[in-house]
Amino acid sequence: GHLAGDQLLKEAGLRFRACVSEGDTVARMGGDEFTIILPDLPTPNSAEFVAEKIHNGFVQPFFIEGQELFITASIGVTIYPMDAEAPHALMQNADSAMCQAKALGKNRTQFFTRELNEYALARVKIENHLRRAIERNEFTLNYQPIVELKSGRLVGAEALLRWQNDELGHVPPSRFIPLAEDAGLISSIGEWVLEDVCRQHAEWRGKSGPPIRISVNVSSRQFREGALVDTLKRSAGEQCVPWDDLELEITEGLLMDDLPESKATFRELSVMGIRISLDDFGTGYSSLNYLKRFPVRSLKIDRSFIQGVIDIPDDAVLVQAIINMAHSMNLEVVAEGVETREQLDFVRRNGCDLVQGYFFSKPLPPDQFFELMTDWRGAEMMSA
Ligand code: C2E
Ligand code: MG
Ligand code: MG
Repeated sequence: GHLAGDQLLKEAGLRFRACVSEGDTVARMGGDEFTIILPDLPTPNSAEFVAEKIHNGFVQPFFIEGQELFITASIGVTIYPMDAEAPHALMQNADSAMCQAKALGKNRTQFFTRELNEYALARVKIENHLRRAIERNEFTLNYQPIVELKSGRLVGAEALLRWQNDELGHVPPSRFIPLAEDAGLISSIGEWVLEDVCRQHAEWRGKSGPPIRISVNVSSRQFREGALVDTLKRSAGEQCVPWDDLELEITEGLLMDDLPESKATFRELSVMGIRISLDDFGTGYSSLNYLKRFPVRSLKIDRSFIQGVIDIPDDAVLVQAIINMAHSMNLEVVAEGVETREQLDFVRRNGCDLVQGYFFSKPLPPDQFFELMTDWRGAEMMSA
């Protein structure tokens, strides 16, 4: 409630004051943001000492309206005149350092650095280009084969987004997807991906390509924002793509956050009967409990574990455990990032159902993928 919030802000303000000296300034900027000005620091490092005092000051709980509350501080520090001279520049520096402190897991102090500044500027630049990427036709999709282990048959492909920009060159998805999520652009990008996947499916069908299921990565944010089901129905409808030929890849965070919006989307997808697979399994909470409650059909074991199966005993044990556990829950298992024959043999021996990785092929542009698909030699590659 507002009253308790106000009370907490006041008390927090008092704790800040207790950490600084006469002549320093403590001000609340708005929301939960405070600025502290320390004009008489003996050395730049003393700022770290004050920040440490503030973190310590927050270790004890606050007592507000009979409740014990714990809060933490994320602190960004900038030094005058080393980092900047103008007040607005200093404020901006402190702000980007604070954002970085939050991004690194909160409850910590981050000093402003040149790199941080460059990073922040690069971010803004990428974001601006990203806003126009769809209309400028800068996105394409690459496709990577998904192979059935017992037969060597090509059963599916994962669609992976590529962004080529005149000024920035090729930007990897690991760089721009998180940005697109922050900037609220992921839903329109995701919509483009679904439309293009369906268009591609129809094109390959028209060229008498073999039947294939296409997996599409869906970000949690896109899942929550609601237009996903409509977009799916519209794009698949227009291109006559059967639900069985599409699969959505989601990540564990989505199952954990338990929001009513996501639940509604799950319900609709489950009524439609569309396949859902859990991507990057093993890197998150890996809790089995929620798996039962959601209509997930398969698990994709993250590449980082597959990489270790030959040399790292723990990874081998973990991969075996995931496969057994998934099978006991009637889930299909996909090994991601299989690069070598040894890794392939390992996952095959352990009963994995499907594989994906450079051993068979890197993600390819559509034309090359079509050639690969129509002349598929997976079984030969596996026995060679
Ligand atoms: P992901 O969904 O886990 O995709 C698998 C990633 O592993 C891809 O990276 C793929 O190129 C790479 N990979 C596959 N086999 C191998 C291998 O044998 N060795 C190695 N070293 N790498 C392999 P990529 O294309 O860079 O995509 C990275 C991530 O970006 C994806 O991870 C996915 O989370 C996200 N992403 C890609 N396309 C989309 C999209 O259309 N929408 C959304 N929301 N996310 C996407
Ligand atoms: Mg994926
Ligand atoms: Mg993955």
